[in-house]
Formats: sequence, C-alpha cells, structure tokens
Amino acid sequence: MRRVTVAKLSGASVPMRYTEPKDRSAELLRVALGHMGRHEAAFNPTTFTLWYEYAAGINPPLQAAVDALLNSGAALGDDTVARLFQDHIAPPDAAAVQRIGVDLQRVMTGIVTSASQTGTRAGLFGAQLDGLSAALRANDVAALTPQVDQALEGTAQMKSSADALQQQVSASQSEIARLRTDLDRARGEALLDPLTGILNRKGFDEKMAALLAASPAEGQSHCLVMFDIDHFKKVNDAHGHVMGDRVIRGLGEILRVSLPDPGDAVAARYGGEEFAIVLPHSTLADATRLAEQVRERAKAMRIRNRSTQEVLFTVTISGGVAALQPGDDAQALIARADGALYQSKHGGRDRVSCG
Ligand code: GH3
Ligand code: MG
Ligand code: MG
Repeated sequence: MRRVTVAKLSGASVPMRYTEPKDRSAELLRVALGHMGRHEAAFNPTTFTLWYEYAAGINPPLQAAVDALLNSGAALGDDTVARLFQDHIAPPDAAAVQRIGVDLQRVMTGIVTSASQTGTRAGLFGAQLDGLSAALRANDVAALTPQVDQALEGTAQMKSSADALQQQVSASQSEIARLRTDLDRARGEALLDPLTGILNRKGFDEKMAALLAASPAEGQSHCLVMFDIDHFKKVNDAHGHVMGDRVIRGLGEILRVSLPDPGDAVAARYGGEEFAIVLPHSTLADATRLAEQVRERAKAMRIRNRSTQEVLFTVTISGGVAALQPGDDAQALIARADGALYQSKHGGRDRVSCG
C-alpha cells in the first residue's frame, strides 16, 4: 500500500475502446473481413483494426473519414489505411501534438499572408479611387479615361484578392476544425492509462476535482472506492512482471464492467497496482455493494497459461470505501478511503471496509 496525495484539475472521462462481447465481435470480424476483401490494402492488423472499428460504429471520426472516401468511390490502399489509422486510431504521442501545433501555425500563417495581400491590394485600390474622384472634381476629361481604366483594373484585382482570401479562410476553417478534433483526442488520451484503458492518475484527479465542484443530490453523497491488490509483490516474484501486468489489465477490465450503467461513475488506475472507482451521487451502502462485487470478481479471475489454459494462480484485492463529508476536499476523501483500505489489509485482506 502507498500513502496518497491528490492534484487539482477539471473534469473529463474517456470511453474504453473495445467492449463488444465475443459473439458480437465475431459478427464484426465477418463484416471487417468483407470490407478488407473489397479494398486494396494488405490483410494486416492495422487494416483489420480500421475495419473492425468502422463496423462496430465506435469511432465516429473514423467512420466519417472512411464514409467520405467510400462516397468518393475510393478503394482504400495501404497508404490511405495507414493515414486513417494514424489520424483516428493510433494513440497520439508527443510528436502528434507537436505536428498539430506545426499544422496550426501553417494555417494561421496562410491566413495572415492572404489577409495582408488583400490589405495591400485594398490600399492601392483606395489610391486609384482617390485619383478618379480628383479627376472627376477637376472636370479633367483627359485624365478621366486612364483613371477609369485603372479603377476598373483595381476592382478586378481587388475581387480576385478577396476571393483568394475567402477561399483561404474557408479551407483554413475546416483544417482548424480537424486540428481541434485531433487536440481533443490527444487530450482525452493523455488522461488514459495505456495498460488498462481506464483513467490514469491525471484523469482521476480531474474527475475528483469535478466531483467536488458539484453538490450531491438530496439524500446522496459522492463516494470513492479504492483497491489494492493483495501480496502483489509475491505475484511478480513468483510469475514475473508480465504476468503481473496481465493481472493489472484484468482488474482494470473488472472495474470497468462493474461500473453502474447508466451513470457517471468512472474507474481509474490510481497507481501501480492501486485502483479507484469514483461514484458521484451515490450512497455509502451502494458504493460498498459495488466494492464487494469488484472484490468477488477479482477473486474469481483465473490467470491461465495461454497455450495450455492451465490455471496458474488467482489473486485477491482489498478495498476501502468512503463518502464525501461536509468540509472535505479531495485529499480528505482519498485519505478516508485509503484509511479504510488500510483497515482491510490489517483485517486480513480480501475484504472491503468503510471509512
Ligand atoms: P499488500 O497486500 O500489502 O498490498 O502487499 P503487496 O505485495 O501488494 O504490497 P504493495 O502494495 O506495497 O506492492 C506493490 C507492488 O506492486 C510493488 C510492485 O512491484 C508492484 N507493481 C506496481 N506497479 C506495477 C506494474 O505496473 N506492473 C507490475 N507487474 N507490478 C507492479
Ligand atoms: Mg500497493
Ligand atoms: Mg498491494
């Protein structure tokens, strides 16, 4: 067990990528294979992932991009698939965020250049109109013809310059909207734990901050459940860290499927082998019931040898539950849940206590 601290941020929650049960995933596999057969790209995991997500309807930006390509009659080849995967499926990394910044800069520079060209052109046009009106005032008929010709030419140039600016602005608008989506996605994924797909510590902190900003409904409170895997060091020692990671992934999945549905509860990986469930507008009794369910499901998890299916080992977890009390900040709530977790450890583990 580890003592806890909390940082302050604002709220966000992010969905898991694949939640389809086996029979549904089998259907999606068939549909995805159908798509793969009709297009040019090679049959590799990247292509499959793309068509799987497309068939499952779980990735609206990808769907829109693929539909746009299909509507234009395009056959999806390796390059297109790689680009779609990069844009809509691959987790964005620091390089992706940097690319978004560079793209945004390029778009802005384009607009500024067009706008300043139009401004210069407008200045010249103004001078030509001044010349024309001076010639009119002076009744200077001889000067009038070249002035009118110049003004006409100026109008045409002004129009083409303004058209170019308009085109540039509308192209930039859609590019900026795309970059905005990329940024939202990069931000969302920055709050996810890559091993389990549930919120990471940063996402947890944001959720806690949002929780404290909202008053609980009448007769309810905001609750927090914290879990820690029992004797996890021994698991790593006996079976290795790769097996340890499988346990962590499995527990993340158990937390995720145990969340009340529908609801705004979220699961997070708080630290190494420590997990949390944040339950807005809940009661201590409901939160405890949920914690017990998670504990039982964790205990029922069988870690098997992947080739022989032989059960290698099982694990247990301990839990601590706490409800927000008047005057609490995030730290106080976490400390109470952590204190209850500590009690569970000292009481013999494989149990849930309330703080
Ligand atoms: P207790 O029942 O008191 O919790 O005993 P414990 O052995 O689980 O003790 P503790 O919680 O202090 O140990 C945490 C261990 O979890 C230490 C570390 O080796 C392991 N661990 C933390 N993060 C990871 C991870 O990402 N992967 C793996 N495989 N192990 C991790
Ligand atoms: Mg621990
Ligand atoms: Mg532990």
